Amino acid sequence: MGNKVSRDQGFKASRGNPLDALMPRCLSALALLLVVSNSSLATPMLGKINIEKHKYYDNVVIETGDEIEPKIMLLDNRLVLDFKGATVEKPSKQEVQNNPRIESVRMAQFSSDPLIARVVFDLKKGVKYDSSTLYGKGKVCLEISDDKKATFVKAATTDGEITPKIPAKVIVPDNSKEAELYRQLKQHVESRMISSEEALYRKLKTVTKKKLGKSKKTVAKTLSLEGKIIVVDPGHGGDDPGAMGPAGIWEKELNLKVAFFLADYLEAKGAKVYMTRKTDLHNSLKQIADFANNAKADVYVAVHFNSIDNSNICGTETYYYNDQSRSLAEDIHNRLLIGIKCPDRGVRKMAFYTIHHTNMPGVIVEPIYMTHFQEGIMIRSKTFQKEIARDISLGIEKFLNGK
Ligand SMILES: [Zn+2]
Repeated sequence: MGNKVSRDQGFKASRGNPLDALMPRCLSALALLLVVSNSSLATPMLGKINIEKHKYYDNVVIETGDEIEPKIMLLDNRLVLDFKGATVEKPSKQEVQNNPRIESVRMAQFSSDPLIARVVFDLKKGVKYDSSTLYGKGKVCLEISDDKKATFVKAATTDGEITPKIPAKVIVPDNSKEAELYRQLKQHVESRMISSEEALYRKLKTVTKKKLGKSKKTVAKTLSLEGKIIVVDPGHGGDDPGAMGPAGIWEKELNLKVAFFLADYLEAKGAKVYMTRKTDLHNSLKQIADFANNAKADVYVAVHFNSIDNSNICGTETYYYNDQSRSLAEDIHNRLLIGIKCPDRGVRKMAFYTIHHTNMPGVIVEPIYMTHFQEGIMIRSKTFQKEIARDISLGIEKFLNGK
């Protein structure tokens, strides 16, 4: 996340559009900005540590009083943060109650010459982490999440859950082998994607005799989304390209491709779909929210793909803000997990502009990490793109019909 923050700031500076700061390319960075308060700056001194537990991860905020970047070491059963040049306000040890990952957190002056303050998280199982220094805010933020590939599990966990000890399998990206890897993945992806629902979709598509974005309504009664208005928002566009994936694909292009497939699926089920863009166009976030509100949509869904400067991080995240959007987020998210079978990084509540300023249930989907060496390859497959679109449409359908 540290690198992610700087890269996003680079984009923001070059484009100079303040609204860009709210785009979910920098989801994690933005998430951190939301928890910031105005503390006065002083010399680095570690103060309060706040841990906010979520189902699949923890958000940790450490007050440091001034800008400082810790050196972080992840051992099997401990996550150690060394703050060089910092002091500790008061040594402490805090047991963390009802947390699946963190048992306790300790803070002490590790050494006085050189001056090093140390924070140690005692862990219950293998974790991954992202860290970020909030410049000018005197805080360091840490996201600690489950690492399913990790071998470490504490003997007796509180919930009795024992993760099988499978050695982490690391595939190192190798350009000379990428074509072969891509071919194998594509085959693998395509063999597991097309299901009976796809067959049904094809049938419906034949019946409605329509092309992408051009609906010709001939079938009415059997369509489950008849009468529903859905705004599909392909994230980014124009001079805001979003993230760069492997092989030079911009996120804005992938978002648009998947959004077209999504519109296609939804229209095949009778929905009226409005896309916020159908070309390489940049809309402001306010324009997008106004558009969805004016359309009086039943559902707003923004399509994005995640990125981070770590090719090992992968998985599906779905964001909502209003309470009315939570089950929509869960329906889409659960459907994506079944469909594309990527790691579950959770349904997350976050005040991103569009889902904060739209009146209807709305979500931002981040089905995969385009910077992950494997997911970044899979997403180039049209079948995989269609599977994502299909899963989102099925989630929307479940939400609208279950209401
Ligand atoms: Zn994005």
